[in-house]
Amino acid sequence: MTGPTEEAAARPPRVVIIGGGVAGLAAAWELERWSRAGELAVDLFESSSRVGGPVVTDYGSGFALEGGPDSFLTTKPDFMEMLAELGLSNSLIGVRESARGAYIFRAGHLHRIPPLVGAGFWSAARSIRSTTLLSRAGKLRMGLGATLVRLHPIRTDERAALGPQLRSRFGREAVEWLFEPFLAGVHSTPIDLLSPSAVAAVLPARWMAAASRPRVTETPAESSRPSSGAAAPRRSPFASLREGMESLPRRLRGSLEGTRVHLRTKANALQREGNSYRVLLGDGSTQHADGVILAVPGLEAAHLLRSTGPAGAVRELDEVARPPIVVVGFVYRGEDVPLPLDGTGVLVPSPAGLPITAITWLSSKWDRPDPVPGRVALRAFLRPPGGEGSARPTNEESVELARLGLRHVMGIEASPTYSVVFAHSRAIPWYEVGHADRVMRARQSLSAWPRVELAGNAYDGIGLPDVVRSGRSAARRLATGFGLLAPSQS
Ligand SMILES: Cc1cc2nc3c(=O)[nH]c(=O)nc-3n(C[C@H](O)[C@H](O)[C@H](O)COP(=O)(O)OP(=O)(O)OC[C@H]3O[C@@H](n4cnc5c(N)ncnc54)[C@H](O)[C@@H]3O)c2cc1C
Repeated sequence: MTGPTEEAAARPPRVVIIGGGVAGLAAAWELERWSRAGELAVDLFESSSRVGGPVVTDYGSGFALEGGPDSFLTTKPDFMEMLAELGLSNSLIGVRESARGAYIFRAGHLHRIPPLVGAGFWSAARSIRSTTLLSRAGKLRMGLGATLVRLHPIRTDERAALGPQLRSRFGREAVEWLFEPFLAGVHSTPIDLLSPSAVAAVLPARWMAAASRPRVTETPAESSRPSSGAAAPRRSPFASLREGMESLPRRLRGSLEGTRVHLRTKANALQREGNSYRVLLGDGSTQHADGVILAVPGLEAAHLLRSTGPAGAVRELDEVARPPIVVVGFVYRGEDVPLPLDGTGVLVPSPAGLPITAITWLSSKWDRPDPVPGRVALRAFLRPPGGEGSARPTNEESVELARLGLRHVMGIEASPTYSVVFAHSRAIPWYEVGHADRVMRARQSLSAWPRVELAGNAYDGIGLPDVVRSGRSAARRLATGFGLLAPSQS
């Protein structure tokens, strides 16, 4: 017979993952080799009725209408290896040859986005000269900016936001009509708050201060990347999944044999108990834990730690803002769409005064057979409501606002044959100037609680490969803490 102390020593350490978005799932996936072998007991708690967070696909129309991400960067080998291990390599689809490049809407017309990224100096200069997007004065100012930015490269030392830096070099017009809409598609943070290092990878390297060239954060929205003008199409580094992006969290969850996944189970608080932890759950029960991964938004992590957690971490995490995002998916009869759809979509700058920020031409963007011949699938991103406490529109209002945008930008008057609204609360965190330092301070403060890790898009980048890496790294740090992995492997 074994006594209680021996029993405790014999049981495997228990890891609790709070949050079943892609970061939490990736963390659980990383821990599977130990949970399947009985070397760790892993529980994942997700407050909603499904895993995946904003990674959601609607199949009701026959089309895969994406409510969250519709793409990911293929340039991150560890993410691609994970897809292969999940058996998703055969599901990869690319951007159609006919759909390279995107448009910006200005003064009633669609203008091809001039290539900046990946284009050499002269080719960028040529495309700026020939673009119809900017006025003559705007182009001259942009030309002057090309020189100014060489003399005064953009600082990425987290002291100044990107907007004012771009404005002082390239002028107001280029910022309003080119940079702001383009960067809004990459990152939801307003340009006048945006940390330059969060988007440095999508700006030309020659513009950035060399000493402080930061780590890479990727772009979510292919349609917003000004990479492929009509003149020089390049192979797109983005891909999607044939069966819809939701197949990623579904496949991840399906691969978790050693993890107990608890849906509809909210964690309310995390408390320390000597050298271990107690998670207070929404149903009134508690879960003991030897290690914890907080794979939730910063505000939620702050809330979980608030009662007894390190005050510094709570303070820093409380600061990570994330407004709601509403996306409306549509299916139309082909003959009702009076445009050729020869790109990935359209960006709508805020001075255009419309209630949408972007349209993705889903069915012409991705290289997969159309499930319903003669129909096209689109989606529109609603402009976030302005002002403190302004209410989110109802679903009916969201459809109407999106249709108003489609009418102005694409001339679509007809009614859709199908529509669906995706409302994401707290979906994408703002990476304001100083974000990386704030996350570093939060982690430093949290180190007072050993084996409690932060993972997800509030911390290490917002793109799916970043989020996966964040979850897996947190899992490896925990495994190291339990002596299951050598420190060099974490
Ligand atoms: C509209 C949109 C478009 C996007 N487009 C792209 C794109 O094209 N490419 C790309 O790479 N990325 C894109 N992204 C970003 C990417 O989808 C996200 O960054 C990523 O999915 C976030 O994953 P996460 O696990 O960090 O967070 P989340 O998915 O937000 O996961 C957090 C989870 O925790 C749960 N939770 C919260 N609190 C608690 C609690 N107390 N107890 C238990 N559970 C809790 C939530 O329900 C949620 O499921 C897009 C995002 C949105 C919203």
